Amino acid sequence: EFTLEPALLEIYEQLIQHGYEAYFVGGCIRDALMKQVPHDYDITTSALPKQAMSCFDNRFKIIPTGLKHGTITVHYQHHAVEITTFRAQEVYANHRSPASLNFTRSLSEDLKRRDFTINAMAYAPETGLIDEHHGFEDLKAGLIRCVGDPITRFQEDALRILRCVRFAHRFNFAIEDKTHQALIAQRSDLHYISIERITSEFFSMLTDGNPNLLKMLISLQLLEELLPEMNGLNDDELNLINTQLNTLPNSLPLKLAALLSPINEAEAILMRWKVSRQLRDYVLMLLDALHTPIDSPYAFRKCLYDHHNNIAWMNDLLILRQAFFHEDHKAALTHLRQLNQNDLIDRQKLAVNGNDCQQLGLQGKAIRECLDQLIDAVLSEEVKNNREDLIKYIEIIKK
Ligand code: ATP
Ligand code: MG
Repeated sequence: EFTLEPALLEIYEQLIQHGYEAYFVGGCIRDALMKQVPHDYDITTSALPKQAMSCFDNRFKIIPTGLKHGTITVHYQHHAVEITTFRAQEVYANHRSPASLNFTRSLSEDLKRRDFTINAMAYAPETGLIDEHHGFEDLKAGLIRCVGDPITRFQEDALRILRCVRFAHRFNFAIEDKTHQALIAQRSDLHYISIERITSEFFSMLTDGNPNLLKMLISLQLLEELLPEMNGLNDDELNLINTQLNTLPNSLPLKLAALLSPINEAEAILMRWKVSRQLRDYVLMLLDALHTPIDSPYAFRKCLYDHHNNIAWMNDLLILRQAFFHEDHKAALTHLRQLNQNDLIDRQKLAVNGNDCQQLGLQGKAIRECLDQLIDAVLSEEVKNNREDLIKYIEIIKK
């Protein structure tokens, strides 16, 4: 029932040939059963990390990605497979990452520690599907269900609360009753989880391409955990953001801009989420320009200039505004696609410079102001960007 590419099988066989047990496990089995292409493959094995490493000759590239967690990554023929030693239920402290590692000799123990039944299936060519927690049934029924007692599982690692929502949203599955109740009961345990782990789950939900994320977070009472700043919004406002998020293409900056658009604390929130400075500035620039005029050719060029002549960013701004105000920017988007970075004016490309202004008797601050005015005049097509015209123009504005 499974067809594994030869390269993947070869990786698997190295472990078997050295006398270890090995199984493909987790997300790749789930995805394959759903007839989706897994984006990564995991193998679980009885070999300890060092033993696993010694199974591979130099045709394989081995990276000890997480020896602490018992994980190595094997790169082979355009595949990267994570190989992790069987682990049992670990001792958890403070509702997050295990305090100690608990390697085990048993696949069953390893499957028991996994979060959801649909993620707890294993497969090997020799054994076929191993499904001790009835994940395949839940998969067919479209259910996310914890392995074991949901309250305990969410208490052990509160990140599973978000993983639960992420999988339910991504596959459009329901959350099984007991799991659902436990999720609601334990949701405030999310406070124990590091912000990096939270945003990583949250951002992948935002960009998984499926609609109505905000509605789902609200109905699970999780929006108040993730974004308490949204508490002040009423139903209409929340519905509006939900719809805007649905309309936007799958792009993290665009989704973040839509999400944060109705609240004042966007910058503080992006800081709290520890997103890169680059992403933060990009999103803040979108929010900043959401309401600036761009309807005249001059306003359009000015907006582009004011934002570092970043054509890709301007493209995103237009898409955002289409989703927000139902403005039709088809023509502008086409125009933007044909624009060449060289066609765009900036200080460097201006045919005169500070020295020229000085020669004409300007000094200090006046030079800067003059150059700004020149840029503006070129943007508004009041004057052409050539030396002669610009110098004439300076003579006029000097007075
Ligand atoms: P994706 O397609 O998003 O990568 P995945 O199921 O492969 O989904 P990973 O985060 O790659 O998710 O984790 C791989 C497997 O490890 C999961 O399928 C699950 O069995 C197990 N797992 C991951 N995180 C946890 C966790 N916090 N608690 C228990 N099991 C987990
Ligand atoms: Mg995965």
